[in-house]
Amino acid sequence: SQKGDIAATEVKKLVRHFPLCMSNLQTHLSLDGHLKYFGRQQYGLFLKGIGLKVDEALKFWRLSFSKIPEDKFQKEYRYNIRHNYGLEGGRKQYRPYDCKSIINQNATPGPGDHHGCPYKHFPIDHLINNLQQMGINDKFDLNQIRDFVEKKSYHIACTKVFELTHKAQLQGKPLAETINHPNQYFGLTLEP
Ligand code: SF4
Repeated sequence: SQKGDIAATEVKKLVRHFPLCMSNLQTHLSLDGHLKYFGRQQYGLFLKGIGLKVDEALKFWRLSFSKIPEDKFQKEYRYNIRHNYGLEGGRKQYRPYDCKSIINQNATPGPGDHHGCPYKHFPIDHLINNLQQMGINDKFDLNQIRDFVEKKSYHIACTKVFELTHKAQLQGKPLAETINHPNQYFGLTLEP
């Protein structure tokens, strides 16, 4: 299930409902005032999927690319954003990437890249650090997630993290489905 349309200024308020792959991209976008190509694609299409329409997307990226001058933004990024909404070039309807694409098919993140799946692409200590910042501090829980990661069951690790961070919503029960899409993760969250 997807929410209704969202405004550029609402994105940051929703970040706590995003899976780690997307909240990580927002963190770096805020810190650096920029994201490299694959990060823009991964995050931009996700945001499109949660209801950010093209005009709001243009506003969002303009505001977020705080270190990019206006003429450069117009020349290099505007086209790309509109392209992702099927308004330029071949006018293809691009869909948000699923976990399988992010984990296995898309470009492997290199230095300065922040796309990808943190469960696969983060060094384990950095991942654990991020999980602790999300409020997951129990040793047993962290070990369980670490085990899933070691078995390359990245989306199972992500499902576990959803469960641990939505205990009240799930009333302590396991999730009835497995996470296989970042937009599914977002859609499963009930607004408090
Ligand atoms: Fe994102 Fe999917 Fe990885 Fe979760 S498993 S962090 S939703 S790519």
